[in-house]
Amino acid sequence: MDNQENSNKDRFHFSVGAFDCLVINDGNISGNAEMLFINAPVQRLAKVLHAHTLDPEHLPSTWSCLLVKTADHVVLIDTGLGSGQPVGGHLLPILAEEGVSPTDIDTVILTHGHGDHIGGCVTESGDPAFPKATYFMGKDEWLYWTSEATLAQESDSTADFARKKLRPLTAILQTVEDGQEIVPGIRVVVAPGHTMGQIVVQIASDGEQLLFLADVALHPIHVEHPDWVSQMDADPAQTVLTRQKMFQWAVDHNALVLAFHFPPFPSLGHIVPDGSGWRWQAIDL
Ligand SMILES: [Zn+2]
Repeated sequence: MDNQENSNKDRFHFSVGAFDCLVINDGNISGNAEMLFINAPVQRLAKVLHAHTLDPEHLPSTWSCLLVKTADHVVLIDTGLGSGQPVGGHLLPILAEEGVSPTDIDTVILTHGHGDHIGGCVTESGDPAFPKATYFMGKDEWLYWTSEATLAQESDSTADFARKKLRPLTAILQTVEDGQEIVPGIRVVVAPGHTMGQIVVQIASDGEQLLFLADVALHPIHVEHPDWVSQMDADPAQTVLTRQKMFQWAVDHNALVLAFHFPPFPSLGHIVPDGSGWRWQAIDL
């Protein structure tokens, strides 16, 4: 890792084989243990938080979007909260500082329909923020967030945000199937649970692998305790199954993992076997 190039805390350069990668911190927010681990036994949770020296009322969370430059494509994975919000919206200014124009990006992958992942996909005036890009989203996920019948299950503000951000993409967004390759070396895998049709992204080049984990897990403690789910996980039982499958895949492929919300930025690490389960090992910076 090039420490000089990575001296900023809101961006991080690294490579996966021949691909140049840049993690961008769109923003930060703090959560609490009650929200993140709704079914954890109280005393056990207190012990785990203590062991990690974490304050249960202030658990930091990042929004780590990823730019990947392959030989022929410039791919953005997730778009942060977007401008015009009280927090977040740093994606575009940081891209500009890095010399990347919105028109340089030809592929945008949206892992799921929550605001912190789709907020930056259109501008405040409702135009695609990356005008030359083809946008991709899982088929079930797109149907969920664009159907009034399913949007009725969400809060008014969440549903309105999805309408505002996703409807303008109707003509340019392609829905994707499980296992589909988006560009050479980059494929998506359906990973339901957190939302009904979330996708993760597998990036492979020259024998190296990166797994963009999206919101399969929201905190490193979810790796140790895959059965502790959050308030934001739509289907808790499926969330647990998907975590187990993805964690084991990362181990089996010795993949570097980018977990969108994991502190500290840049949310990169490895999932390592630990007894009969796993634990998170952040990269050394
Ligand atoms: Zn999220």
